[in-house]
Amino acid sequence: MSQPYPELLAPLSLGFTVLKNRVLMGSMHTGLEDRKADYPKLAAYFAERARGGVGLIVTGGIAPNLAGWLAPFAGKLTGRHELARHRLVTDAVHAEGGKIAMQILHAGRYGYHPLCVGPSAVKSPISPFKPRALSSRGVGRQIDAFVRCASLAQEAGYDGVELMGSEGYLINQFLVEHVNRRDDEWGGSFENRARFALEVARRVRETVGPEFIIIFRISVLDLIDTGSDWNEVVKLALGLEQAGVSLLNCGIGWHEARVPTIATRVPRAAFGFATQALKDAVSLPVVATNRINTPEVANELIASGAADLVSMARPFLADSQFVAKAAANRANRINTCIACNQACLDHIFSRQAATCLVNPRAGRETELNWSLAATPRRIAVVGAGPAGLAAASVAAERGHKVTLFDAQDGIGGQFNIAKQIPGKEEFHETLRYFEHRLDDVGVIRQLGRAVNATELADHFDHVVIATGIRPRVLNIPGFDSDAVLSYLDVLRDRKPVGERVAIIGAGGIGFDTAEFLLGDGTGEQPPQSVPAFLAQWGIDATLQARGALVSAQPVTARRDITLLQRKSTAVGRGLGKTTGWIHRSNLKQHGVAMLSGVEYERFDHNGLHITVRGEPRLIAVDNVVVCAGQESNDELAAELVASLGDARVHRIGGALLAGELDAKRAIREGTELGAILA
Ligand code: FAD
Ligand code: NAP
Ligand code: SF4
Repeated sequence: MSQPYPELLAPLSLGFTVLKNRVLMGSMHTGLEDRKADYPKLAAYFAERARGGVGLIVTGGIAPNLAGWLAPFAGKLTGRHELARHRLVTDAVHAEGGKIAMQILHAGRYGYHPLCVGPSAVKSPISPFKPRALSSRGVGRQIDAFVRCASLAQEAGYDGVELMGSEGYLINQFLVEHVNRRDDEWGGSFENRARFALEVARRVRETVGPEFIIIFRISVLDLIDTGSDWNEVVKLALGLEQAGVSLLNCGIGWHEARVPTIATRVPRAAFGFATQALKDAVSLPVVATNRINTPEVANELIASGAADLVSMARPFLADSQFVAKAAANRANRINTCIACNQACLDHIFSRQAATCLVNPRAGRETELNWSLAATPRRIAVVGAGPAGLAAASVAAERGHKVTLFDAQDGIGGQFNIAKQIPGKEEFHETLRYFEHRLDDVGVIRQLGRAVNATELADHFDHVVIATGIRPRVLNIPGFDSDAVLSYLDVLRDRKPVGERVAIIGAGGIGFDTAEFLLGDGTGEQPPQSVPAFLAQWGIDATLQARGALVSAQPVTARRDITLLQRKSTAVGRGLGKTTGWIHRSNLKQHGVAMLSGVEYERFDHNGLHITVRGEPRLIAVDNVVVCAGQESNDELAAELVASLGDARVHRIGGALLAGELDAKRAIREGTELGAILA
């Protein structure tokens, strides 16, 4: 059989070294870089990815000095006493035949601490700390710090370094007039603003010698008003080529940009146009990035000539064996990153270690493991939602005889509803992954019928109750009307919805229901096209505008929607840290009204009567859709405990606890239970 994904899996020679394929595991902070005690875990995490066949791994950002810290006590490499912990990582990766570069990240004004510095004292909108403007000597000291850090990385056994020059960090800050207001040789003209980046690259190359990989992460699209223009991006890239850089990795958007760059709303490979433009302008190998999550998409970027390599970060949290599976023609077994950010970036921004919603082992390779069960048991798993799927597949992999029941005709539970929401199309991939996984580990499926306690009690050693939730029903006058619907009526049963709608409950499902109703509301729509996405968010694909930003194209709203909650906090505050603003922004662009501090009084033929901070109001609507949270569907568990006893009945996911339930918790609980059932 011919080699699958031939362009992606072809080696790439950098002259002094050869990368075994075109896959770069992009830098992703895991939180394990920050504490010496966590380096054995970090080493195991990277070793597993190296074993999976990645061509070149890049670590999370490591600061070259205290001023460059992302946050107090973040990972740094400033002295020889820190080498030993890094050697754990490089030795582990090399033992698996991999290559690894260390990213040097100086946060500049994005540093979340009082010691942060910048080209000028311009505070960023995403940090409370105003940076201290660097003196001329201070600028020199930052360059020295980069150089020393690179030299230490070389000593620690890394195969190279990545200089973080995008996303709005220090190097990028020097390039842009808005935050670089200097009038010395480091500011003013483009030549002066680019001097810092070029000096860092030139001096690092001078120090590490010719046979060490230097990747420069260049901001091809700043996506801020005052960002670099395209001529400046190309001039910088050519200068970096001269300075001795080996690879140009594309960075998309500053962290303060108000444009989605990696969330699931972003179509796959949406920014390939920018990588292509850079590749056309330089002779260095160029790395494409952002929302590349399948071997097909990755291969196409290279085959079409848009890039020489492809960087993926989150997809390697989701599946460490991504490359090996692609190479073995088993891409349909890849556990695909769904770009939710829920367990990776949202964790990092709330100072928890990163893991992955679809793969709770990520970052926990030394802790969450399983082996064959000493005694194979007969196990029933009731409910084929995310919790049940995870439990059934892990238990079966360990040699148990597992039967998976679900009342629905297919697996997936609520994921079958979620996958129809615009921007959640990636949920299909999780269901595809589990279909194959169940086959591979021999889970018997009994779908299309609800089971009861009597059927289960005599035939199984253990019963796992993963029966999920029931939507909360509200007891409010008039809510027995046919015009009052639950989110299941709308999303699952496709009941018709009028043009004026009030949605009760502004949690994840309230927002998703609003997004669904912005479409025609009749079912799943094709994913947003790249041109439509770029137009909606004002991204200039012609690369004429500074920062690649133009006016966003106005969107048309099909319905008049009001989203309501009782809490007096801002609507949507409870959504994901890194994605909530995108949902809020999208609904606002579509004219969705949002009201907090609401009390629900009654529904009648005039509409929904509410009180907002003591003031009575009427919202004239055709329909009300209730998205007011859920309650556990756990009656089966109660009945079974009576006959089997506590030790043989196990609850997970929504059946255990409906509050704070999401797929992250459901899959983690299923996996952890599957790993220990004995
Ligand atoms: P469920 O997924 O509810 O599965 C329970 C299963 O049990 C069902 O298939 C049901 O048919 C079956 N069952 C029940 N009783 C029986 C019985 N007696 N016999 C046989 N079968 C039975 N979460 C996120 O983390 N991120 C998101 O972006 C996200 N978006 C969502 C969007 C929408 C529109 C919805 C509705 C949910 C979303 N969720 C999201 C929530 C997520 O889907 C749930 O948290 C998750 O599905 C819960 O998993 P579970 O396995 O506990 O239960
Ligand atoms: P949720 O996030 O708990 O939101 C429930 C909403 O209902 C809240 O706005 C709550 O706000 C309101 N509510 C609760 N009890 C009520 C009552 N008795 N009367 C009126 N309003 C009431 O739950 P969800 O939206 O149903 O989502 C379920 C789970 O799926 C969540 O845990 C969520 O994380 C997950 N999910 C995640 C995403 C995502 O994008 N990450 C998307 C969808 C779902 P008030 O109490 O202020 O009124
Ligand atoms: Fe991808 Fe979500 Fe996992 Fe992050 S948590 S790696 S976005 S699937």
